[in-house]
Amino acid sequence: MAKNHRKTIIDDAVMTAEGLTYNGVVLQPVVEKCEGCDRIGAHESGKYCSTYADPAGRWAHGVCNFATHVRAELDKGGKVKINPLKASKRAARGR
Ligand code: SF4
Repeated sequence: MAKNHRKTIIDDAVMTAEGLTYNGVVLQPVVEKCEGCDRIGAHESGKYCSTYADPAGRWAHGVCNFATHVRAELDKGGKVKINPLKASKRAARGR
């Protein structure tokens, strides 16, 4: 059975000369690092984030804190590592 479609900003966005726009803000397409995130929404003009207008900006300073597919963790040396989340963990987070 298909998942229920949850209404997002992408559903209410309108295409303008500047691009896909919601409430006067131009939405930027998702970036490569977003691939696998459940917050990606499809639009006829491309894929957009249902949470952030500027996905590239979310990733510019580290891991996107709303990503559902990866999580930032510190390794033993204190460096930030990006860990993919397993499907079971993603399901648990969605509860
Ligand atoms: S929540 Fe973050 S990772 Fe997910 S689509 Fe949006 S910007 Fe990309």
